[in-house]
Amino acid sequence: GTLPAPERIERIVAAAHSRYRTDQDGAVADYIPVLAAADPDLFAVAVTEIDGDVHEAGDAGAGFTIQSISKAFVFALACEAHGHPALRERVGVDNTGLPFNSVIAVELNDGHPRNPMVNAGALATTALIPGATPAEQWERVRTGLSRFAGRGLELDGGAYHSEMLTNQRNSAIARLLESYGRIDVDPGALVDVYTRQCSLRVTAHDLAIMGATLADGGVNPVTGERVVSAQTARDTLAVLASTGMYERSGTWMFEVGVPAKSGVAGGIVAIAPGKGAIGTFSPRLDPAGNSVRGQRATAYLSRALGLNLFASD
Ligand code: GLN
Repeated sequence: GTLPAPERIERIVAAAHSRYRTDQDGAVADYIPVLAAADPDLFAVAVTEIDGDVHEAGDAGAGFTIQSISKAFVFALACEAHGHPALRERVGVDNTGLPFNSVIAVELNDGHPRNPMVNAGALATTALIPGATPAEQWERVRTGLSRFAGRGLELDGGAYHSEMLTNQRNSAIARLLESYGRIDVDPGALVDVYTRQCSLRVTAHDLAIMGATLADGGVNPVTGERVVSAQTARDTLAVLASTGMYERSGTWMFEVGVPAKSGVAGGIVAIAPGKGAIGTFSPRLDPAGNSVRGQRATAYLSRALGLNLFASD
């Protein structure tokens, strides 16, 4: 199937926004101090079609940190550099069933991180980004994610410094990976690059374009640039389908039926292969760390736009 006509998408996006505009369920993340200061009422919905047309409603230009959504795109860059078998072997593609920052998941499997969408696997994935120094790796990540967005993404220095001060758990996970011989880089430098990647500033508009690049087989539909191969785009979407919403990924797939990735600042990107992508932003989260209004608006859009992967009509 294809998407409805542009005027209809426009109306559906506006409806998704107005339907949940006053919804106040959930709570803003506070384990990273700067996130607790976010305006909880900000709410944005954006849809990018596979031809690059963007439809949006609400605060689609409001900036926020990408956080865990970066994991999806850094995974794609690592896949592109090392290939499907290496990522499957070294990072894994199975859901842990545990929260994103779990140390138990690492311990249960001889330090194997299990999947790239939890912090352990994301750290192991960032460690695989090519570069002679951590600064080179960071530059690769920043420019790579910028190509997905079609514009130069910048670090939110305040968010980066705030998280670096409260990063004990990620430092512990990086040390654990080191102790099991699962990473070949310095754990302190690795946490620094990972925290930078999480602190890139994006908008819902950016997320919809980044997602549409995966929907379009790795070609950014706005700039026309091939960012990753079709195989990498497919691999990334397959991983998101089972792990993108953390331990809630099964419920998400059952209810919404599109691969998606969330971040604790309140962003969600959802991808409909061959059709387009949805970017949403709303800072109030559920207990797993997924934006409440973002999930609801995405579920509504998936139904109204006919995006569910498992629907035969
Ligand atoms: N930077 C955050 C962390 O590592 C990202 C977590 C998230 O978005 N779920 O804890």
